[in-house]
Amino acid sequence: MGKITYVNGRFLPHGQAVVHIEDRGYQFADAVYEVWALFDGKLADPDGHFERLKRSLGELSIDMPMSRAALTMVLKETVRRNRIHEGLVYLQVSRGVATRDHAFPTPGTPPAVVVTVSRVDRAAAEARAAKGVGVVTTPENRWGRCDIKTVGLLPNALAKQMAREAGAVEAWFVDELGFVTEGASSNAWIIDGDGVLRTRDANANILRGVTRLSVVELARKAGLKVEERPFTPAEALAAQEAFITGAGTLVLPVVTIDGKPVGSGKPGPVAARLRRLYIERAKASAI
Ligand code: PLP
Repeated sequence: MGKITYVNGRFLPHGQAVVHIEDRGYQFADAVYEVWALFDGKLADPDGHFERLKRSLGELSIDMPMSRAALTMVLKETVRRNRIHEGLVYLQVSRGVATRDHAFPTPGTPPAVVVTVSRVDRAAAEARAAKGVGVVTTPENRWGRCDIKTVGLLPNALAKQMAREAGAVEAWFVDELGFVTEGASSNAWIIDGDGVLRTRDANANILRGVTRLSVVELARKAGLKVEERPFTPAEALAAQEAFITGAGTLVLPVVTIDGKPVGSGKPGPVAARLRRLYIERAKASAI
């Protein structure tokens, strides 16, 4: 059975799923997106992702394309039609289609909505988590509103490609003060020499990761100390452990930074525990 994609009210064979050349997402990156992890055919951490979607749209004055209930139905129906149980659901909402002009189109122009679903091999993901991954660092060069989840991801794409060419999985952006902001598609964490979990604070120019927030809560509940405080790559190399979080990576240990080992160079127990706890919570929250 072929892949099915939702585009503006229709479920289409993936190869026929197209958007207009004057979609503002295509021309101006004037669009936002969300990604849900899918466990057993259900959307994980639904509230966090729906709330962030609403916020991203609100910050850009793009109308919510439909009610949350209707959107949930569209997402779930796309999942159902693809018969995918373990994977990722991608939603993109653009400001719609209009003759090219930088300023907004006429009020009432309907937002354009696209939903795709992709499969994740959970066994392969677990094997990768058991081994850990490498990251590389790169100067922060993104705009000042990384808190909005827009499709304007060119710096992220370039950073990710650089990581791939270096044999790494993620790139960490480092700001002009020398602190890690976040990854190209994940939030960055360490467990420092005092055993404190550290990640960049949500008021910095980062995406407020839904997984990040869940992990902050889970870690505190598990009795771990969490500080939303920046760290440098040198501190990360000297840390007990490092890891990244995101809907795609969940909690994924980082074992090298720019080719140098973090701590022992092996995944540590805290990241492994948080990964287990997060997956349990994601499954319990899924709708
Ligand atoms: N930071 C960036 C730049 C991202 O693109 C993502 C996810 O795509 C994240 C962080 C993690 O966010 P979440 O946990 O909501 O998936």
